[in-house]
Amino acid sequence: MPTMITDECVNCGACLLSCPNDGISKGQHKVLLDATLCTECVGFFSSERCAAVCPIEGACVADPENVETEEALFARAVRIHARAPKPPILSPKTSHFRAADAPSWWQRLVPSLTNPRQEVVEVEDA
Ligand code: SF4
Ligand code: SF4
Repeated sequence: MPTMITDECVNCGACLLSCPNDGISKGQHKVLLDATLCTECVGFFSSERCAAVCPIEGACVADPENVETEEALFARAVRIHARAPKPPILSPKTSHFRAADAPSWWQRLVPSLTNPRQEVVEVEDA
């Protein structure tokens, strides 16, 4: 559950339909992100979709207090989509942990910082 919506959010709604887990909903002053449904898009996309579509810098960001492994995030995705016709899969196209050209938010927002996620990840060959 590492993604969070900050007070920078202008409630534009651009991210509402971006989540593969339906984890984002309308709110009064900013959108609401259900952290229990966030998988950093692991299992479906090579980067975090809500952040990718967000036009406001700093509105939709990784939670530095809550770093999770690919294993934990994928397990959540499998659980959420247990009955879905198209289950999540792991590949360079469906996990930012494996996509060499998909820097995480940490690196996009603060390029000088080490990405703490990558310290707990073993990158496998495609
Ligand atoms: S990072 Fe992906 S799974 Fe998490 S809230 Fe955003 S769109 Fe949904
Ligand atoms: S796209 Fe960004 S600014 Fe717009 S509602 Fe989502 S988090 Fe807020």
